[in-house]
Amino acid sequence: MSEATLEKHVFQAEIKQLLDLVVHSLYTDREIFLRELISNASDSMEKLRHLSGVEKDIQDGELPLEITITTDAEGKTLTIEDRGIGMTREELVENLGTIAHSGTKSFLQAMKESGGSPGNMIGQFGVGFYSAFMVADEVKVYTRSWRKDGEGLVWTSDGATGYTIEDAPEQTRGVKIVLHLKEDQSEYSEESRVKHLIETYSNFVGFPILLDGERINQVEALWLKSKSDVTEEEYKAFYQFTAKAYDEPAYRLHFSADAPIAINALIFIPSENSERWGMSKMEPAVALYSRKVLIDPSPKGLLPDWLRFVKGVIDSADIPLNISRETMQDSALVRKLGSVISKRVIKMFEKEATADPEKYQDFYKKFERFFKEGVATDYANKDAIAKLLRFESSMTEEGKVSSFTDYVSRSKDGQDKIYYIVGPSREQLESSPYLEAFKARGLEVVYFTDAVDEYVLDSLGEFDGKKLTSISNAGVELEDSATEGDSLSESETEALCAFLKEELGDKVTAVASGKRLVDSPIIALVPQDGMTPQMRRMMKAMDENFKDEVKVELEINPRHPLIKKLAAARESNPEVAGLVARQLLDNSLIAAGLLDDARDTISRMNTLMEKAIG
Ligand code: ADP
Repeated sequence: MSEATLEKHVFQAEIKQLLDLVVHSLYTDREIFLRELISNASDSMEKLRHLSGVEKDIQDGELPLEITITTDAEGKTLTIEDRGIGMTREELVENLGTIAHSGTKSFLQAMKESGGSPGNMIGQFGVGFYSAFMVADEVKVYTRSWRKDGEGLVWTSDGATGYTIEDAPEQTRGVKIVLHLKEDQSEYSEESRVKHLIETYSNFVGFPILLDGERINQVEALWLKSKSDVTEEEYKAFYQFTAKAYDEPAYRLHFSADAPIAINALIFIPSENSERWGMSKMEPAVALYSRKVLIDPSPKGLLPDWLRFVKGVIDSADIPLNISRETMQDSALVRKLGSVISKRVIKMFEKEATADPEKYQDFYKKFERFFKEGVATDYANKDAIAKLLRFESSMTEEGKVSSFTDYVSRSKDGQDKIYYIVGPSREQLESSPYLEAFKARGLEVVYFTDAVDEYVLDSLGEFDGKKLTSISNAGVELEDSATEGDSLSESETEALCAFLKEELGDKVTAVASGKRLVDSPIIALVPQDGMTPQMRRMMKAMDENFKDEVKVELEINPRHPLIKKLAAARESNPEVAGLVARQLLDNSLIAAGLLDDARDTISRMNTLMEKAIG
């Protein structure tokens, strides 16, 4: 090899950081490197198989699609070779020298924050090709692209600062990775150790794996077997292989059906949600097969988007093999299939949640956004998904959750609404004046504290025929309840309401006395067609120039001492009465989270304090 062909490159900064972590911090689970490399090899051959359908001119077209692994205990090397698409010079630089993956930064961040449970981190992110440097002090990647004009090349690196690329004219299509093992990692050049790893992690790879000439894996369609013939270990290994995951599946659904469509499905629900770590949006991960032949590993539009966290395999003998990935969504058969599977998955959650509520609660905490997304976007299933939602309420202990079904079973005879309130936290909601009347009447109020909840509830509209009703909205009718304490007379109340409306003018749409309040003097209600505080907050977050005039309806408490005194002061001290009226409005807006500009509030408060002391 002539000196002239040698090209030197340095790694991108992110790769260096990643390598530093891989080499110096990831001591546990080093053995996963083999699985990562085999999985890359299998992906690459999967791509080649697809290309073969459309491209005629493929380099070394006659090579069999298999993975060849060779150990050399004496030379302390391990070699993994595939016949996949390979890489061109540009692709070598692009794929193995830079990180296009936006999630890598999140990975590095999460690694730092976890402060040292890297095993778990690998489970959530995977470190792919670079995991080779956990066990090797030198990695050589020989490759030739499937493109006829591709050159034979070898990429070499010690995993520190950079890599070289040289010509390797002998190399045929695909990738051959030669690991020169670190002194203390020589176990991976022993045939028995490597065999055990392949059996553990890569048994379900869809291509033959040959270790030192002997076929190792079974390439088995587990989903076609009957439940009683599959062990827990096989299920777990299959999940980890198909989902490229390291966690234990939280739930599993293995079933077959003949009507309305032939289905063999093996579905897994992960126990970790990578989107929570700021990773990019997941791609659909329930692969579609027809009689064991892979049609699409990531079919878009098969399952509703919110179910993108679901992993596994669906095999339907009714789906024609030649269905194109592009037109799949237009197929009535595929839609039917997706609809049947979604319903089964939702039913499975319902059953599991009943069987073990605590497990479900833990799971739900990590995955709740998906369910909420489902309620808001999956029209056909929203009522069923709504049963899976969990929340705290005025009748649950802190940290304990309920479902809408529980709420309905506890609700009062004849109660035709489900009451809720949305706000930033349980504490803030508990101290809100809106709750008073509901507490006094023993009516349960659901607490929603997530930014998306309002939108979700709006999409849902009702549950089990009961209208979902925000208690901060005007127009919530409550039954009379025995109210304690002296009240202003009806005519006094009317006169006071008229006075307040007059003083506050356009800022309020109406002032009335009401039965909601127990301990607070006044409350601001959002008109039924008005924008709620959460919507306003969202609009303001999106547009800093967003302005709208807040108009609320006021409800006063004619039993409250302040209100009674205000009624009297109207005549005896009109100046102070006017100030108090405006201050009451501001106070009610603060409680509702609707006060935008507090400058007037503060100067008025100062005037009032001066008068109180003076
Ligand atoms: P990921 O597989 O998650 O994309 P990796 O770090 O494992 O990340 O690999 C980076 C890229 O290198 C892959 O996306 C692929 O383009 C390329 N690559 C890795 N291994 C192979 C292989 N055996 N054959 C062809 N390309 C490969």
